[in-house]
Amino acid sequence: MNTLQVNIVTPDGPVVQTEASMIIATTEAGEIGILPGHIAMVAPLQIGGLRITKNDSTEVVAVHGGFIEVRPEVVTVLAQSAETAATIDIARAKEAAKRAEAELQSKQDAAELQKVELDLKRAMNRISVYEGR
Ligand code: ATP
Repeated sequence: MNTLQVNIVTPDGPVVQTEASMIIATTEAGEIGILPGHIAMVAPLQIGGLRITKNDSTEVVAVHGGFIEVRPEVVTVLAQSAETAATIDIARAKEAAKRAEAELQSKQDAAELQKVELDLKRAMNRISVYEGR
């Protein structure tokens, strides 16, 4: 069977290094499915779940922005942070979501609000990946 090597890398080191038969990623332009043999490309990613399918199972990894580089046999994701469902601290994510929701009410400045919205998106992404385990 044709496979892809998938590497998800953050400043803390590699988070995922695996073979896959397909991945689905959410780029800034929308969702894309990548099979082995895909043409080479680079795209910015949204905060979202990256789905990795191998054999008959699918794992979802929480990826917080960054870039995806696709080559026919290798996919590399570079992100500031990423976690597998098993490494997500759900209490921390819920706390971060609560904090961000409270801050959304109190902040006025547009740049501050944008930062808090991103904080909330990361927290919600972690919660959704954890709950979909
Ligand atoms: P927090 O406010 O809880 O620190 P954050 O969204 O600001 O969350 P990031 O800046 O995205 O955190 O990540 C900093 C580091 O902490 C990264 O290594 C990331 O993987 C890790 N991290 C953040 N939240 C969690 C979590 N809920 N579970 C596991 N690791 C986390």
